[in-house]
Amino acid sequence: MWYKDGLKFACRQCGRCCVGEPGYVWVNEDEITAMAKQLGLSRSRFEASFVRMVGGKKSLIELSNGDCIFYDPEIRGCKYYRVRPNQCQTWPFWEQNIDGPNSWKKTAKFCPGCDQGPLYAEEQITALKIQSEL
Ligand code: SF4
Ligand code: SF4
Repeated sequence: MWYKDGLKFACRQCGRCCVGEPGYVWVNEDEITAMAKQLGLSRSRFEASFVRMVGGKKSLIELSNGDCIFYDPEIRGCKYYRVRPNQCQTWPFWEQNIDGPNSWKKTAKFCPGCDQGPLYAEEQITALKIQSEL
């Protein structure tokens, strides 16, 4: 594995991965339940306010400027970081970002947290990659 010696990552809270280009933040039923609970809302109320359907799947609503509905520009981060979806928890160790050194370099150009901070061991990275695909 090209990352057998591990990879470094520490979020710099630039907020870039939560804003900008149109995209999707997929949420499953367990994640919806956890986020609704955190906000003190019923699941149906939560979904009506924060979730959209895309091709039969559920994604968090994106604002017209491309920001995720849970992005807080004042803290340049997630309003509900503790219960953020799996997709967000496993960034940047997604398959397409770590399928080779060039993909990682490209990811690092976008995300200033790559190659910074603590070292993630190969096993941790692989576990996060697998988790991101669930
Ligand atoms: S792009 Fe990277 S450094 Fe910036 S908020 Fe996202 S994870 Fe953190
Ligand atoms: S849920 Fe939170 S961490 Fe995930 S994209 Fe939205 S603001 Fe960012």
